[in-house]
Amino acid sequence: MGEFDFIARHFRPLAGKGAMELRNDGATMSVPVGEELVLSSDTMIEGLHFLPDDPARSIAQKLLRCNLSDLAAMGSRPCHYMLNVSVPADRHYDERWFTEFAEGLEADQKQFGMTLLGGDTTGSPFPLMLNVTILGTVRRGEALRRNGSQPGDGVWVTGSLGRAALGLQVRLGKLRHADTSLVEAYRVPTPRVGLSLYGIVSAAMDISDGLVQDCGHIAEESGIAITLFEELLPFSEAVRAHLTEYRETILLGGDDYELLMTCPADQEEVLQKHCETHGVPVTKVGTVTEGQGVTVLDKHHRPICFSRTGWQHF
Ligand SMILES: [Mg+2]
Repeated sequence: MGEFDFIARHFRPLAGKGAMELRNDGATMSVPVGEELVLSSDTMIEGLHFLPDDPARSIAQKLLRCNLSDLAAMGSRPCHYMLNVSVPADRHYDERWFTEFAEGLEADQKQFGMTLLGGDTTGSPFPLMLNVTILGTVRRGEALRRNGSQPGDGVWVTGSLGRAALGLQVRLGKLRHADTSLVEAYRVPTPRVGLSLYGIVSAAMDISDGLVQDCGHIAEESGIAITLFEELLPFSEAVRAHLTEYRETILLGGDDYELLMTCPADQEEVLQKHCETHGVPVTKVGTVTEGQGVTVLDKHHRPICFSRTGWQHF
């Protein structure tokens, strides 16, 4: 199987306008007047970001959705993506695997309104490596950022937290859980694209490395302190059932791909209405104050101490 046949079979059907059927050295794209490009890139490596026996379809979807979540965090709408694939020769990544992989890409292209613009395919002595660079647009100057939080703002998150982190524990055989909801959340996240939060929220990012650490990024970029209230955090019933035993996994684990935002008090109602209109659950989970670092308070309003240390100031 040659590289060119491989690309033609699996990826040419995914190519959109500007990709010129992937027959040239590059692609073209135009940006509507008054808008600017938002670019983001994410790599997934076998064994590190997905497990070799995860379904090819869900690996493709997770690859796109991690990237889509970054666009959502920037307030941008997706239009195209570039795909780089490094395929190990001696593994089970065969024709059938890539057919399913391409089906996953196609399904999410349709759902999120974007097309493949180009990329590269190569053989490799390493585990399967997948990289997507995603391209989106935003009205000029209206990309969301991490640095606008002010003391007095509230801290908000979309969706519910901790399901993916527990799903990984289930996949690794470290946690027993009766239904598939946690593993599903780990395999196929729900990026919050389509919201228009510019002028409503003061800062935004997506939660990919764990709630506490990602709050730390907003705190640092904005020069403020964040206090989270554990009792306010949105947990599904499945997560709540494991909260006592897996508190650190839930609060420090990653892969949520929900939005983390800070919002001035006078915009809170607007934020809630906007999210409700789009069918996105949103919850106030904390407050912004002067200072630095992130504190999580338990239901008795005592700071929770985590065993993992790092940059956080508790
Ligand atoms: Mg991100």
